[in-house]
Amino acid sequence: MHQNKEGSKPYAVLQLRQEDIEGRIYGLVGFQTRLRWGEQDRIFRLIPGLEKAEFVRYGVMHRNTYINSPIVLTPALQFKNNPRIFFAGQISGVEGYMESAATGIVAGINALRMLTGENPVVLPETTMIGSLITFITTADPDNFQPVNANFGLLPPLTQPIRDKKLRYQAYTQRALEKMDKFSELFLKSL
Ligand SMILES: Cc1cc2nc3c(=O)[nH]c(=O)nc-3n(C[C@H](O)[C@H](O)[C@H](O)COP(=O)(O)OP(=O)(O)OC[C@H]3O[C@@H](n4cnc5c(N)ncnc54)[C@H](O)[C@@H]3O)c2cc1C
Repeated sequence: MHQNKEGSKPYAVLQLRQEDIEGRIYGLVGFQTRLRWGEQDRIFRLIPGLEKAEFVRYGVMHRNTYINSPIVLTPALQFKNNPRIFFAGQISGVEGYMESAATGIVAGINALRMLTGENPVVLPETTMIGSLITFITTADPDNFQPVNANFGLLPPLTQPIRDKKLRYQAYTQRALEKMDKFSELFLKSL
C-alpha cells in the first residue's frame, strides 16, 4: 500500500463518489448504517479531511424488496402464475448493476421470444449469468437472500485447480466455450 503525504501507511481507504457536476457533493461509499445522525456527524468528522465537511445527507440502511424467485420464477425469468410477466434485477433477487442489467437482457430476450412464439432462452449454468439465474430460481425458498455474481455459484470444475487465479481462468474459459456453442444454437434457432 502507498504511503500518504505524512509518510504513514493508511490502514483504511474510503471511496468518495462525485454526485454533482460541480464536484461539491460526494457520496461516501459503503456508509449505510443505523447510527443516529448526531453520531454519524461526530464519527465521520474523525476521518482525516472531513473535519469541516458539511453533511447534506446521512447514511441509512437500504432494504432490498424481492420476490421469492425459487418458488415463483422459471429459469427463463418468467412468472409461473402468468407467463406474460417477466422479472429481472433487484426484485428477482440479484444484486448489483451488472447482475440487474444481465438478467434484464435475458428477461427482455425471453419476452420477445414469447411474443414471437419461440421457446425461451435458458442460459447454461456454467456461465455467470446462467448460474445467477439458476441460483435465484432453485435456491432454498425458506432462506432466499439476494446474491451477487461470484465464482462460488458456478458448478465445480471436473478437475479441481488449487491456484485461485488459474481456477478462475478455467471457469472463464469453460463459460466462454459453452457460450460459443450456445450462441451458435441460439442464432440457428432465430
Ligand atoms: C446505496 C446503494 C449503493 C449501491 N452501490 C452499488 C455499487 O456500487 N455497485 C453495484 O453493482 N450495485 C450497487 N447497488 C445495487 C444496485 O443499485 C442495484 O442492484 C441495481 O440498481 C438494481 O437495478 P434494478 O434495475 O433491478 O432496480 P432499480 O435500479 O431500483 O430500478 C427500479 C426502478 O423502478 C422504478 N419503480 C419502482 N416502482 C415502480 C412502479 N410502481 N412503477 C414504475 N416504476 C417503478 C424505480 O423508481 C426505479 O427507477 C447499490 C445500491 C444501493 C441502495
